[in-house]
Amino acid sequence: MRKLYFTPGPSELYFTAEHHIKMALQYGIPSISHRSKQFQEIIKETKANIRELLSLPDDYHILFTTSATEVWERISENLIDETSLHFVNGAFSEKFYKAAKNMGKKVTLLDSAWGSLPDVYNLPEGDFEHIAVTHNETSTGVNFPISHLKLLRQKYPEALVTVDAVSSLPILDINYSEVDAVYASVQKCFGLPAGLGLWLVNDRCLKRAEELEAKGKTHKTYHSLLNLVDQSKNNQTPSTPNMLNIYLLGKVVEDMLNRGIKIIRSEAVYKAAIMYNMLDRHEVLTPFVSDPNLRSNTVIVVDTNEHTDDIMNYLANKHMIVGGGYGKKKGTQIRIANFPTHSKEQFEMLTDMIEQWSN
Ligand SMILES: *Cc1c(COP(=O)(O)O)cnc(C)c1O
Repeated sequence: MRKLYFTPGPSELYFTAEHHIKMALQYGIPSISHRSKQFQEIIKETKANIRELLSLPDDYHILFTTSATEVWERISENLIDETSLHFVNGAFSEKFYKAAKNMGKKVTLLDSAWGSLPDVYNLPEGDFEHIAVTHNETSTGVNFPISHLKLLRQKYPEALVTVDAVSSLPILDINYSEVDAVYASVQKCFGLPAGLGLWLVNDRCLKRAEELEAKGKTHKTYHSLLNLVDQSKNNQTPSTPNMLNIYLLGKVVEDMLNRGIKIIRSEAVYKAAIMYNMLDRHEVLTPFVSDPNLRSNTVIVVDTNEHTDDIMNYLANKHMIVGGGYGKKKGTQIRIANFPTHSKEQFEMLTDMIEQWSN
């Protein structure tokens, strides 16, 4: 029997991905020139589908990178001259903080314990150029409530706000005018093989990058923001990109459009609710995030303590693979992905199995 991956990433492929991979090979997509008219059309279609799925405003550009990790460096390089404020409440938000610091930026930390969120009602004073928000902290299962984004705009109107939505896009339903950039990698919620990052940036970001370049503060690297945008205008990329994945992303997003993003998003809420409900009633297992307002719908983190290996093996025997705890929580937690490819039936089955587990 085939295994079903509920790991937070890489994860189960979107259920139509296999078909599209076969078609891509039949069409010879990996062999065509990345400068050909045919490939420009593929990029154009992928971007149009993403724009429609996310209802992305016209002042946003859709760019491809190698990963979300790359975007952390590109943001540091192109959007920050000196100062950056980082919400840090887990391993991924901390990695971005460190990336900006390593690139010589003056970083301010607004941190809190794993499983919680830094205090958004007590924001530090300062003229920060950039605010880093992690919408879904994949290491802890904490969701940054998007209603808080308004507070950031009010307090820091000049700052560019960038949102790490790696494990929540396209479930994340955001007002794009309240932020300036959103980014993701495709191996999580989009259900594709790893190796492609998606970076959505608005014109404010472009203006900042132009200012920094004019002052001689940035380097004209192949993936500088300005170069990425210039190439994207012709539906091209600076280097030979992950063509297969760009094609697959366009197709999977088209399938999501046909299903309907509203349905996909409401199913995510439903599936998360049955899992959290079961966990709240469970005698041994508990959700790691105690505040229901901060609980992620797409990555559910469970305190499993000394039962971790037992539960993971029990589920693996039933061909269901869940993720282990991240970093310091390895061995005491499991992490369950609830992505668009996981059907209601599959998720109900997983919930039942966990409920029936007994130590
Ligand atoms: C996985 C993940 C990343 C890193 O993605 P890569 O594709 O490995 O670069 C960044 N942020 C969050 C929240 C993630 O879950």
